Amino acid sequence: MRANYRMQRLFVPGDLAAGMEIEPSVAQTHYLLHVLRMAEGGELLLFNGRDGEWLVRATAVAKKTIVLEAVEQMRPQPPLPDLLYCFAPLKQGRLDYLVQKAVEMGAGALQPVITQHTQVAKPGIERLKANVIEAAEQCGVLAVPLVREPMKFERLLADWEADRRLIFCDEDAETNNPLAALQAISEAKIGLLVGPEGGFSEAERKALRALPFVTAIPLGPRILRADTAAVAALALVQATVGDW
Ligand code: SAH
Repeated sequence: MRANYRMQRLFVPGDLAAGMEIEPSVAQTHYLLHVLRMAEGGELLLFNGRDGEWLVRATAVAKKTIVLEAVEQMRPQPPLPDLLYCFAPLKQGRLDYLVQKAVEMGAGALQPVITQHTQVAKPGIERLKANVIEAAEQCGVLAVPLVREPMKFERLLADWEADRRLIFCDEDAETNNPLAALQAISEAKIGLLVGPEGGFSEAERKALRALPFVTAIPLGPRILRADTAAVAALALVQATVGDW
């Protein structure tokens, strides 16, 4: 069932169940009272990543506070997609964009990977999580992806699960069309890896191509920016071996 795009949607950390009273955060309360000018009886949707999506109604509206009562579940909680999205952190603005698109496109977990040419060695995890929540609120994504701690490239490969296919976007691939390589994948568990603006080093490319669980794919005849490559790769992966 697709999300209802007309209603406002907010993420809350606490549980959601019929009859439960929820006090939004200070920032959310300000938004509801002063931006949406919500009055008693006003309705919106809440989700927490565990209990599905709930219709809630404002039952007590005061000058600085608002209480929301959970009325009914509008959509059940879907499982997290089993798509591990691995990316070399980019500079802030592009990183915000990349994270939000990965959420919209159905990633189940986000894994920052520090490669040789990665520009941002320590991405702000809290900011990544805030972007995940924002994208989920805007696009009605109920399965909120996990944001993992950054990992070095070598460690990512050393710890890789043997039954998960790692699709790596190789800007030096000889061919241009990825479809045959993607359609040859049989594993249900998928990982996707997109490199940094400076691309993968030769040593990294060699290490990847030597691994049995790795499929290298081209993304066409032109070099794409890393955030463009991310969206293109996610669309191709979801359309061939993902949940589209
Ligand atoms: N070294 C080049 C490429 C970097 S592009 C440069 O500095 O511009 C950033 C990442 O996007 C690459 O590491 C790769 O994962 C992906 N990418 C970009 N264009 C691609 C293509 N045509 N084929 C496959 N992957 C691509």
